Amino acid sequence: MIRLRGHHLVCLHYYHGDGLNDAYAVNLKQKVELAQRGEAITIAGGADDICAACPNLRESICQGIPAEEGEILKLDRQALALLNCKVGDQVRWDHVLQQVQSAPPSWFETFCHGCTWSPYCDRGASVFNTPTRHNLLFKEEAK
Ligand code: SF4
Repeated sequence: MIRLRGHHLVCLHYYHGDGLNDAYAVNLKQKVELAQRGEAITIAGGADDICAACPNLRESICQGIPAEEGEILKLDRQALALLNCKVGDQVRWDHVLQQVQSAPPSWFETFCHGCTWSPYCDRGASVFNTPTRHNLLFKEEAK
């Protein structure tokens, strides 16, 4: 069983191997690879299995700057609204990926606005072989 918070269910698909330190990156890849192999994911209401290895986590609270806890929780809520899920639900990676890829570009424009990690998400397919959001935007423009 893996525990993931709302915004990680969206953002991790676009991960390119960068991390806050090596332990963070290794843990992240291990957890997502488990999810890709079909392990059930329980939606966490706060710090999750990715946060557990993050240097920004202190006393179960995200201290990331500029992504403060309130902002992170807002992203979690936006992601869960997109996925039509709630904290405590169980989901599967493949199903979540389909939903994320079906989101309109305008949704990403709002969700990703101001995120310091956003440029990393547009560097070609992720380490998990998800197309970039840029490709999604390009596909939409070509319609
Ligand atoms: S920055 Fe915050 S939300 Fe992101 S992994 Fe670290 S503790 Fe979790």
